Amino acid sequence: MKIHEYQGKEILRKFGVATPRGKACFSVDEAVKAAEELGGKVWVVKAQIHAGGRGKGGGVKVAKSMDEVRQHAGQILGMQLKTHQTGPEGQKVHRLLVEEGADIKKELYVGMVVDRVSQRVCLMASSEGGMDIEEVAAHTPEKIHKVFVDPATGLKDAEADDVARKIGVPEASVPQARSVLQGLYKAFWETDASLAEINPLILTGDGRVVALDAKMNFDSNALFRHDDIVAMRDLDEEDPAEIEASKFDLSYISLDGNIGCLVNGAGLAMATMDTIKLFGAEPANFLDVGGGATTEKVTEAFKLMLANAKVKGILVNIFGGIMKCDTIATGVVAAAKETHLSVPLVVRMRGTNEDIGKQILKDSGLPIISASDMADAAQKIVAAVSGK
Ligand code: ADP
Ligand code: MG
Repeated sequence: MKIHEYQGKEILRKFGVATPRGKACFSVDEAVKAAEELGGKVWVVKAQIHAGGRGKGGGVKVAKSMDEVRQHAGQILGMQLKTHQTGPEGQKVHRLLVEEGADIKKELYVGMVVDRVSQRVCLMASSEGGMDIEEVAAHTPEKIHKVFVDPATGLKDAEADDVARKIGVPEASVPQARSVLQGLYKAFWETDASLAEINPLILTGDGRVVALDAKMNFDSNALFRHDDIVAMRDLDEEDPAEIEASKFDLSYISLDGNIGCLVNGAGLAMATMDTIKLFGAEPANFLDVGGGATTEKVTEAFKLMLANAKVKGILVNIFGGIMKCDTIATGVVAAAKETHLSVPLVVRMRGTNEDIGKQILKDSGLPIISASDMADAAQKIVAAVSGK
């Protein structure tokens, strides 16, 4: 699960990380009022969407008067903000963060993720923070320093100080940088985050170390123990199809292609997508109906796939283990009838009660194309959607 920058900063502040003072706003008037309350001479108006790269996309603007705050807030609020992380259609801005302008002397980068190889939290840090960190990673990876944190000790003072020096924090600011890094680690650890990133972490003119941006993602398997984080969820930022799918306990991810796939088991679903690609087409979604799919669940899954106007054909790929093929076949027939299915449907099923399942499909009178194995199924659906 993702949250907004202003929410990430709220969490970081609880762990002792310094941030600019700021306020989340939902209207232009609120933004002006927030700037007045903050005081000072320079404010930054920042689009709050669940994607980075906002600065380059025109979603972060500096204001030097109340008129400019009003102007920027009016411009950013409601805009369709396009960044390299939003996809070509962009993301509509519903919320702003208005915060005090910081005196930036140097922009650094710090971030944490779980490293699967070492099974530890990996701290990454660089002197080259700001809006081009992807370029740094691609072209000068030696400028990114890593520490794999021992879970028994947490991030040690010496480790934090060493990294701080490597990324160019001056000696007088090292103790502050240490508390930022250790605060970030504690925040990551205690919230069950999967990613926590401060880019840029800045050195100010007077030597302070301040988080100017905050990005946190959380492990959804651990959300049951973090009601406060669940409360930060913003459904405006999530794909409506994925929200709908989660209501029916379906694992669904929207993709860009035109072949809908309905599969049981995440591994088989991945393999199915690969096979579709192998034969030259693109999947429209990832969909794992799980081991205990009922007729209702299969029907909902069909509705979800068909709600996507891009879908030109559906491939059902089922292994009947715990789930029996006749149950799925009954579900597929019911769903095809209820949704007045008008796109080609290829079904490949193997396993328990395979013959009964195939007979149910046959007896339904629906124009279902039966396939014997995965390659055959993928070739048939690819041919059907390309009109061959
Ligand atoms: P994004 O990463 O989505 O582009 P950031 O929050 O990192 O958004 O902002 C982009 C840039 O805007 C930063 O690298 C920084 O230079 C500038 N900026 C952001 N917040 C402030 C602030 N409070 N004061 C001054 N400059 C800021
Ligand atoms: Mg940033």
